[in-house]
Amino acid sequence: MKVRQGRPTVAEIDRSALRWNVAQVRSRVRDDVTVMAMVKADAYGHGIAEVSRVLEKEGVKAFGVSTVEEGAAIREAGVVHPEVLAMGGFVADQVEPIFHNRLTPVVCDLEMAKILAQRLRGTMRAQPVHVKADTGFSRLGVQLREMPAFLDEMKKIERLKIVGVCSHLGSAGNVSGDWIEQQGRAFVRASELCAIHGSPVKIRHLANSMATLTRPDFHFEIVRPGLVLYGIYPLGAAEHPVELRPAMRLRTRVLQVRRLLAGEAVGYDQTFVAERETRIATLPIGYADGYPRALSNRGLVLVRGKLAPIVGRVCMDLTMVDVTDVDGVEAGDEVVLWGKQEDAELRVDEVAEWAGTIAYELLTTVGKRIPRVYIN
Ligand SMILES: *Cc1c(COP(=O)(O)O)cnc(C)c1O
Repeated sequence: MKVRQGRPTVAEIDRSALRWNVAQVRSRVRDDVTVMAMVKADAYGHGIAEVSRVLEKEGVKAFGVSTVEEGAAIREAGVVHPEVLAMGGFVADQVEPIFHNRLTPVVCDLEMAKILAQRLRGTMRAQPVHVKADTGFSRLGVQLREMPAFLDEMKKIERLKIVGVCSHLGSAGNVSGDWIEQQGRAFVRASELCAIHGSPVKIRHLANSMATLTRPDFHFEIVRPGLVLYGIYPLGAAEHPVELRPAMRLRTRVLQVRRLLAGEAVGYDQTFVAERETRIATLPIGYADGYPRALSNRGLVLVRGKLAPIVGRVCMDLTMVDVTDVDGVEAGDEVVLWGKQEDAELRVDEVAEWAGTIAYELLTTVGKRIPRVYIN
């Protein structure tokens, strides 16, 4: 029996899709390569606690997050043994939780190394750390030309042991081309510099989703797929070497249906005016839920297995769609914003394109007031 409670707008997360996608990823990497599941940004909006638990059960031995707080959330979810790498840098206030939650910090400059070492003073432990190398992204990490001096300084910090080196590619979808090749060479150089300057590293990691699927020469010891685990290819991905299953279905139900006469307008500022007798369905989802306002008069939704266009402006809490051409739509009907319905499917990357953005942004901004419901 289904108990219907509260607002009918939910993000339905299919655990079996997560399991399927991680198996697809595994099929593309050597057996001795560790798959580090990127679960930052609340597991790309899918819920970091449940996603980490599901993936741990699937044998995932390492998780990557951006912030220390995300790492803590994995531990709070009861994921005890896998390694958790905090990749997005940290400040002094975040050092204590790094230790408390047994996270592996990624050091991006000497300052970060020093605040870690400070905390270790008076203890006997040597803390393993990874070093982030900036191979041309110019975002985070030690620039290659600064690396020798950085490594020489690191050697003086006894309590820190560099065990890994990592970097990030400058394209999510297109992992070939001159810039990426240059990054690949710079990354190899960065790991050589570690050895030359007295900190040989056993662990190297560079690959994002697309490099994981298509660039075995970039796999090294760890790969760090994110988006593909959730069943979506990055924007600009030329190849689709495996079949992925989108893990999130964003759905709601029609709240009200009204009939408009030709000439009547819909929504803020009358941006849509009916040219014919029109049936409008109102949906309880809006931009405060992360449903982009850029979809105003542009996007489509699925209702009764058919596409219906958004008309008027997407509001903060509500969105109107034209259901004139879909037979029999009534209040209570399920509406899918992205995901499957009957034989039809709307992919989040298509929706993102209409909104002038990328699937990464839509998934990670699904609002806090939308409950995540797990199936399978
Ligand atoms: C987000 C992220 C990834 C994963 O990127 P995808 O394109 O989602 O696979 C890998 N590494 C780092 C450092 C990241 O921030």
